[in-house]
Amino acid sequence: MTTEPGVRVEDKLFQNRYLVDAGQAHIKVKPHTKPSAALLTLLKVCPAHCYDLNSNGQVEIAPDGCVECGTCRVIAEGSGEIEWSYPRGGYGVLFKFG
Ligand code: SF4
Repeated sequence: MTTEPGVRVEDKLFQNRYLVDAGQAHIKVKPHTKPSAALLTLLKVCPAHCYDLNSNGQVEIAPDGCVECGTCRVIAEGSGEIEWSYPRGGYGVLFKFG
């Protein structure tokens, strides 16, 4: 993907629209007391900044803005630290091209 010079990823992501499937989160973080290095990595690599720390220092996800890139799946699904699936048909990201 080419991006014009000076255009921020956040500005491009803002062009997309999302149809939220209320109550049906397609990505879940397994309960934990102290986040692993892999979970902490998700805070930095998710392009949509879906991951954050709660007040107890645990990693949480708000997948409403997820662009379904699969990066977090590659990093943390294999270890069982997250559950990942695509949203149900008709829900999730609606990409705007151009
Ligand atoms: S699939 Fe991509 S955009 Fe969605 S939560 Fe994971 S890293 Fe973020």
